[in-house]
Amino acid sequence: MPSYKSPRGTRDLLPETRAGFSRLEGIARSLAARYGYREMEIPLFEQAAVFERGIGAATDVVEKELFRIAPRTEDSEAWALRPEATAGIVRAFVQHGMHTWSQPVKLTVVGPMFRYDRPQAGRYRQFWQWDAEAIGDAGPAVDAEVIEMGRRFYAEAGVPDVQVLLNSIGDSACRPVYLARLKAYFADHSAELPELELRRLELNPLRLLDSKDPSMKALIAAAPMISDHLCEACEAHFTAVKAHLDAMGVPYRLEPTLVRGLDYYARTAFEFYRQGAEGQQQALGGGGRYDGLVELLGGRATPAIGFALGLDRVLLALAEVGADAAVEVPPLAVVAGADPADTVSRLRVAALLRAEGLSVRVELAPRKLSRQLETASKEHAHFAVIIGDELAEGNVQLKDLEAGTQRLVPLVDLARELARAAKSHRHG
Ligand code: AMP
Repeated sequence: MPSYKSPRGTRDLLPETRAGFSRLEGIARSLAARYGYREMEIPLFEQAAVFERGIGAATDVVEKELFRIAPRTEDSEAWALRPEATAGIVRAFVQHGMHTWSQPVKLTVVGPMFRYDRPQAGRYRQFWQWDAEAIGDAGPAVDAEVIEMGRRFYAEAGVPDVQVLLNSIGDSACRPVYLARLKAYFADHSAELPELELRRLELNPLRLLDSKDPSMKALIAAAPMISDHLCEACEAHFTAVKAHLDAMGVPYRLEPTLVRGLDYYARTAFEFYRQGAEGQQQALGGGGRYDGLVELLGGRATPAIGFALGLDRVLLALAEVGADAAVEVPPLAVVAGADPADTVSRLRVAALLRAEGLSVRVELAPRKLSRQLETASKEHAHFAVIIGDELAEGNVQLKDLEAGTQRLVPLVDLARELARAAKSHRHG
């Protein structure tokens, strides 16, 4: 017999882990609503060109990690699974003429992303992100608002010591001058550059600054930094972003080597790291301003900023510090029966309670009552509803498994009694 496994780089989220994700998704959705972001969905796959254009062909995400879908003969369009949500959201912004909506348009997506990367700890081929985008606001206040929202997410999720790394990467006015200087600097040191970095120097010199090669460390430290080459407008924008963050009491660390190697990115760039984990290339999340992207995907020039926070890495961070990722809620009550064979009565009573919005499990196996109650206690149900001969008079036994008490309750009052108990014990 063949034995099947989930594909490499993917994993099944078993119920306990799924509950952890659901909790994070709940926090993300709640924050999005509080900050005025409206949830939407985009397809899990797009025309590959949306990513090739929208993320940039000379990036790892597109060059090496794009999860391409083999074209079908009858439909030869080239598709790829989404490696991130920004490009798809911006594609949707243009397609649906959202520039006519009241600006900025604040949108959010929570869901799985796909990158055909080499799997390792904290790096999967299918992973989850909370993505938020504010399109149509040139900032700087919205930049600070987005960063503060991201930081609040980690605080509410319970991840300790999350640090904001912040930089400005200039714009089309000042970056070309800086890039020429950076390129000249690395060209002067070309003899010291590893093969891969030499190639990057031609395609995208900014990317040398986030090189993972240890031999690059000293060269990078001595390289010219964009923060020293900002034009007046970018400098003013950056100063204002920092002033807004200061005023909100959001701490950050300036990180001059933090870059986004794509032309459409501008000005504000930020990442979230666990303090002390900055060197491990394991950002919890990141984002930035992408003032050129809407135009690049066929819309009119529109400033925008957003972030993508990885949920998998938040759960890993929580596990690392020994924090509970989530608690699965046990059923409020188990419907049990004195007559093991009478599944009809048990199912009927359970349906009645479920119709009232209560979370109950019903014992459908023809087991002895003592065994039924044992299981109910083990799964931490608060109550057992025991069906016996009393049902003929319209009554059931309600056993409080935590207190060990039991009393007769009319069936017509049962849902109300349980609901009241659920409320006071915050069950179900
Ligand atoms: P990026 O778009 O690469 O800046 O990714 C944003 C966030 O998504 C990262 O900070 C990670 O938390 C998460 N992320 C990116 N790629 C992966 C991956 N392959 N596996 C798990 N999480 C990822």
